[in-house]
Amino acid sequence: MSKMPVLFVGHGSPMNAIEDNNYTRTWRSIAERIPKPEVILSVSAHWYTKGTKIMNEETPKTIYDMYGFPKELYEVKYNTAGSPGMAKISKELISRKTEYDNSWGIDHGTWSVLVHMHPDREIPVFQISIDADAPPAAHYKIGKELRALREQGVLLFGTGNIVHNLRLVDWNKENEGFDWAYEFDEYIYENILNKNNDNILKFNEIGNSAKLAVPTPDHFYPLLYVLGASNEDDKISVYNKSCELGSLTMTSYLWE
Ligand code: ZN
Repeated sequence: MSKMPVLFVGHGSPMNAIEDNNYTRTWRSIAERIPKPEVILSVSAHWYTKGTKIMNEETPKTIYDMYGFPKELYEVKYNTAGSPGMAKISKELISRKTEYDNSWGIDHGTWSVLVHMHPDREIPVFQISIDADAPPAAHYKIGKELRALREQGVLLFGTGNIVHNLRLVDWNKENEGFDWAYEFDEYIYENILNKNNDNILKFNEIGNSAKLAVPTPDHFYPLLYVLGASNEDDKISVYNKSCELGSLTMTSYLWE
């Protein structure tokens, strides 16, 4: 079995689930390019919890954890199998305390992208939550511990946004960002390409652009899991490097 890549996707608006645009076409092309996973383990910005939770249902439900969108979006179902087996292996690999928790489901951070990557819904999916109270290094460490799953056909998939500030969204800025959004996205980009993971873990220390880009870390932290599972010798590809609505970036990374 070939070793699986790890992937971070900037998911942006939930509407991407039902749109056909440059972002969604890129997501499709990534799935077509990489080996087909046996299982997808998603770390979504939207499962942001107290403690680390692991979903181990046989058939997880699709959940609609977003408000005020058109009815069509609430009709999307991403009804794949789960993976209790990989959930168990993951639980054993993670050294910190974790709990099984099936109160959540496949959330829109996950399905809005996977409907494009794997529209046939043939690959089992499960999620691991993000502990809101854990420091950056703890998320990165979980990623490292899960790296072994790459040898078992599991695609570790982080779904969030490097820059994500909904309070500062500017609807007049289609395909455009504020200066600080470009600055922060560029800081992460440089450090990812230079494999300087320590600088990424210390994103908070770079000042104003970090404060504006990551007002709360829920959308940023999925990157740290994927980064932890990456290897020094992985080849890195960058996709969708662009800003939307002033205060979101769609930049996505593949390590393979
Ligand atoms: Zn989101």
